[in-house]
Amino acid sequence: MKRIALSFVAVFFCATALFANDPSESIPAGLETVTIDNHQIQVYQGQVGRWVETAGNSLSSLAYRFGTTTNEIYKINRGDVNGEYVFVPMSQKYYEEVVKQGYGRRILKVDPRKLIWPVETPNRSSGFGMRFGGMHNGLDFACPSKTIVVATMEGTVVQAQWMGGFGNAIIIRHSDGTETTYAHNTTILVRVGDHVTRGQAISLSGNTGRSTGPHVHLEVRFDNVPLNPEDFLQYGLSQPDTVVRERLEQPTEASALNLQDQ
Ligand SMILES: [Zn+2]
Repeated sequence: MKRIALSFVAVFFCATALFANDPSESIPAGLETVTIDNHQIQVYQGQVGRWVETAGNSLSSLAYRFGTTTNEIYKINRGDVNGEYVFVPMSQKYYEEVVKQGYGRRILKVDPRKLIWPVETPNRSSGFGMRFGGMHNGLDFACPSKTIVVATMEGTVVQAQWMGGFGNAIIIRHSDGTETTYAHNTTILVRVGDHVTRGQAISLSGNTGRSTGPHVHLEVRFDNVPLNPEDFLQYGLSQPDTVVRERLEQPTEASALNLQDQ
C-alpha cells in the first residue's frame, strides 16, 4: 500500500513538472510538508533548539539545561550572545523529552508556491487597501503579544531593525523576487543575512511602532510595490489543516531536522 502511494506521488510530481510552464495554473502543484516552530521547539541555522532570554541566564547554565555546550551557543549565534535572546541548540535527549510531553510542532501540507500564515491562530483584523483615508499596505493579524511569528516562505533576511512606524520589523527576500515584511514585533530573533526556512520563528509579535493593539502587519512587495497578501496566502483566508503533530515514531521527520546530539 505504501509503495503504491509513493509511486503515485512520483507520477504526480512528474506530471506537475511537465506542465510547469502552463500559465493557467490549473494543474495543482505537489504539496510540501512544513513544520511550524512553536514556543518549545524552534529552528535556527538548520539546528533544532530554542530562543531563550539571556537575562538571568548564564550561557553555561543554558548549555547545561539544553544539553549543549557554550561553544555551540557561540557558534550558532555567530558570537552575538549579548542580545536580549540567544538561540540555544538542544540535544536529541532534550528534544525527545519535549516531544514526549506533547509539545511537538504542527506539521502542515502546503502549496509550495503560496505563503503560510505568519502566526498559528490568525485573526485577520484589517485588510489591504484604503483605511481611515490612507493606504494600508498590508494585512493585519491580531494576536497576543509575544506570539511566535514565522517566515511565511523560505528566504534571506535583508532587514531586521527598528523601522519607525513599523516598530521592530523584519524584511525577508524570497527567490521569486518578492519581499515579505513583518512589523510591530516585541522582539526580533533573526539577523540580517540569515537564511530562513518556511515556518521558522523570526520574531515575537507585539505592539511597537505606529500600532493600536498587539498584531502582526504582513506586507508582500515586488519591486517595492505593495501587493495584497491575501492573494499570496494558502487557500485565501482559510488555514491549511494540521496533518499531524511531531511525534517520536516518525524517524524520517526527526532525521530531516538535522538534530545535533551532544
Ligand atoms: Zn497593518
